[in-house]
Amino acid sequence: MIPYGRQQISEADIQAVVEVLKSDFLTQGPAVPAFENAVSAYCGADYAMAVNSATSALHLACLALGVHAGDYVWTSPITFVASANCALYCGAEIDFVDIDPLTFNLSVQALEEKLHRAEQSSRLPKVIIPVHLCGLSCDMQAIHRLSKRYGFRIIEDASHAIGGKYRGQPIGNCRYSDISVFSFHPVKIITTGEGGLALTNDPDLARRMALLRSHGITREAAEMTREADGPWYYQQIELGFNYRMTDIQASLGLSQLSRMDAFVARRQQLAEFYRQNLSGLPVTVQNQPGDCYSALHLFVIRLQLGECEKSHREVFCRLREDGIGVNLHYIPVHLQPFYQKFGFKPGDYPQAEHYYAEAITLPLYPDLSESQQMQVVAALRDACFAKY
Ligand SMILES: *Cc1c(COP(=O)(O)O)cnc(C)c1O
Repeated sequence: MIPYGRQQISEADIQAVVEVLKSDFLTQGPAVPAFENAVSAYCGADYAMAVNSATSALHLACLALGVHAGDYVWTSPITFVASANCALYCGAEIDFVDIDPLTFNLSVQALEEKLHRAEQSSRLPKVIIPVHLCGLSCDMQAIHRLSKRYGFRIIEDASHAIGGKYRGQPIGNCRYSDISVFSFHPVKIITTGEGGLALTNDPDLARRMALLRSHGITREAAEMTREADGPWYYQQIELGFNYRMTDIQASLGLSQLSRMDAFVARRQQLAEFYRQNLSGLPVTVQNQPGDCYSALHLFVIRLQLGECEKSHREVFCRLREDGIGVNLHYIPVHLQPFYQKFGFKPGDYPQAEHYYAEAITLPLYPDLSESQQMQVVAALRDACFAKY
């Protein structure tokens, strides 16, 4: 089976991990800050907080922004559940903004209309979480402009998007947001096994996330309520978590980071090959606005069902039977059984649901070969048209 995504591990990656295993610190050593400094320097953000997953980073980001019961948080329905769950962890209410049918990202027009309505009913969101689907940046300048007018904060769920650019600058620089979050799960652009990271330019948000990442414990005299009892002393001043990344993971991340630009360039090359070879098939692909350089975590096609002889499900199953490990990113979050209890129902986000009825993720990862891509394209042609 050709998978839809997979990591690339080099000898240098293995060596980097082995070095940490032989060192004094498996966790809370020098590799985590080295990785944080490298990511913040790459992205051009002031502070980086490495954690054990993007899910944890999203949770910390919401907490740092003060999200709590009675608040509203909005995100896209076409995302992994973690983008919405983070608001629920904080006791807030979640709501969704429908997607743009061409970029598959949260629609700025739908957002503007929803904000206008929310203002009239005094239900404006505290935080909006745009998701850079497949590694393609949302229209952050427009969302940022709306945040000034309506007074919400912004967390970029850039889990797919490290190595991508928006308006010529690295995604993650937080120029148009308060916090940006990356994931280092093995299918993402670079990996640490499990892992995530939050970036911000705000020292106060950075301090709060650092505190909550490690039990709410501080060793900084300035943060304590009184003078230290002695050199052993620390204080717990908040209810935090253990969301720390290990040095083993960070060393892998640091080693992977040195190949990240090459990974993304390769993904761009493979995507271009798909675009050229898919012409003539009943599919459309994600629109790439001129001010975006996508990290291309995923390559999603939408079947034009009117021109295809088979159903979405038939095409999907046929591809799997032919050894193509296609996937579907994502099932609209509002249709998940857990979300039904909040009153969401089919029909709430028509563009997202329409997308779900047509989308298929094709294999895309740096080590995918062009002959494998040809195999994917041939299998797709058969799946759409063959009499079987
Ligand atoms: C993968 C992913 C997450 C969660 O990442 P983890 O590191 O697995 O916790 C969150 N949001 C999106 C959009 C993702 O793709």
